[in-house]
Amino acid sequence: MDINNLLRENIRCLQPYSSARNEFSGEAMIFLDANENPFNPPYNRYPDPMQREVKNKISRLKNISSDRIFLGNGSDEPIDLLIRAFCEPGVENIVSIHPTYGMYQVAAAINNVNVVHVSLTENFELDAQKVLNAVDEKTKLIFLCSPNNPTGNCFNHEDILEVLNHFRGIVVLDEAYIDFAPGKSLLAASGELRNLVILQTFSKAWGMAGIRLGMAFAPPEIISVLNKIKYPYNLNILTQTKALELIENAKQVEIWTQLIIAERKKMEKMLTEFPFVVRIFPSDANFILVKMHDAKGIYDYLKDQGIIVRDRSRVHLCEDSLRITVGSPDENEQLTEALKNLV
Ligand SMILES: *Cc1c(COP(=O)(O)O)cnc(C)c1O
Repeated sequence: MDINNLLRENIRCLQPYSSARNEFSGEAMIFLDANENPFNPPYNRYPDPMQREVKNKISRLKNISSDRIFLGNGSDEPIDLLIRAFCEPGVENIVSIHPTYGMYQVAAAINNVNVVHVSLTENFELDAQKVLNAVDEKTKLIFLCSPNNPTGNCFNHEDILEVLNHFRGIVVLDEAYIDFAPGKSLLAASGELRNLVILQTFSKAWGMAGIRLGMAFAPPEIISVLNKIKYPYNLNILTQTKALELIENAKQVEIWTQLIIAERKKMEKMLTEFPFVVRIFPSDANFILVKMHDAKGIYDYLKDQGIIVRDRSRVHLCEDSLRITVGSPDENEQLTEALKNLV
């Protein structure tokens, strides 16, 4: 597969903007090249456009070389950039599963790119053949999400690999919740896979949704494309500095993750006790999808108690279902008490 043949022509031919910090990024005594203010350090300086220090840390953390890492303003940024780079507006399309994370659809719509939806099975499994059958000659990208949002389950590696191996475009695998599903990432196997982009984020297990830092892992040819079309300074200096500091918290993150998984198991057990709970879908993430009698009524009741969950009732295959994020032990206890008062 040649990435150049997949790219939109305007992107293939694009002469990217070259920023001052791109043209000179070494050490110097005096920087008079970027029209910065000499006062108010360190905020007066533009950040490193290639985020080298942060990538070096992530490279060690994930055991993957820096030229396979793209960093964005959340994972939403690479989602948008991939669609913009590969899909000709009004002409080409992406294939995505249904139900899944809403941003693929929105990013496609903003770019006037059509989405072909492929339903998961009743048990929320990936039907690889059905996904491949939905592909036509205008399909550039397939979006998969594992663990999937809002269903919470992981897909089998065999099914994901079947899609990868029979598709001539690029597969984007969103692993936003993978820290809650140890052993289920495809990252370690991705070195061999020329058409795979894996998305991960610091927003969930790492507890840094507020600093907006998402990662894309892919072969260097694809990373170069993303770097070519991103905003020159897409990660600000506050995010980069804070990330360098917080990535050192890996041990703490592991403890939080174990605690959240234990709380999820407790919550699953607690929910089975209630007569209005119809089905608890198995989760590999930090949330649980629960089918209930009168989900909307329970949503409203909880809201009146000051507890906000996500009503997914109107989502395909999630009729009468609420998506509940696993909170702190105290928050989960308050949820339990509120639900007990309902029976
Ligand atoms: C939360 C979430 C993300 C994270 O997005 P960021 O922009 O990195 O905060 C990505 N994908 C899915 C499926 C999510 O649920």
